[in-house]
Amino acid sequence: MKQPGTFIDQARIAARIAELGAEIRRDCGPDTPVHLIAVLKGAFVFLADLVRQINGPVTLDFIAVSSYGGGTSSSGQVRLLKDLDRSLEGRHVIIVEDIVDTGLTLSYLQEILHARSPKSLKTACLLSKPSRRKVQVPVEYIGFTIDDRFVVGYGLDFDEHYRELPYIGVMDGGE
Ligand code: IMP
Repeated sequence: MKQPGTFIDQARIAARIAELGAEIRRDCGPDTPVHLIAVLKGAFVFLADLVRQINGPVTLDFIAVSSYGGGTSSSGQVRLLKDLDRSLEGRHVIIVEDIVDTGLTLSYLQEILHARSPKSLKTACLLSKPSRRKVQVPVEYIGFTIDDRFVVGYGLDFDEHYRELPYIGVMDGGE
């Protein structure tokens, strides 16, 4: 199978995630528990690195949604595949997502999670493709803003492949 070219290398990802973790902790205060909700499957690598860069109390939960049918374009359909284990009531919640593309997935998630009475609800995305947006969604923490390229690696897949790559790659040539 063809090896994707490097788009964002490991060192840049690590440096940016350290900044995001520090920013999140600064915004919520040193002793406030933060409840991170990772959107499966794509956000699992980002979550693992981000959680280790937020000093102080953190708890985790996972939610799974599906919006893509094994290709590179959005069907526009969002389905809840796995719900949270714990209630959000009174918690400072941050949704942790790999990438915001059309915004449909995040706007669905923000709506259903907001209805569960968190004390606050913010979103952290490693990547954002603003040129593809169909709905505007607030994203308080963005790792990298990128052009309209289909990226893989660091948790992101193409038809379930390449999630294990330690860098963010592109299929059609590197940087
Ligand atoms: P949205 O609902 O269109 O914003 O899409 C969000 C989801 O689409 C992400 O969580 C990814 O799973 C997937 N996605 C969007 N763009 C890419 C990409 O470039 N590579 C891999 N997955 C992507």
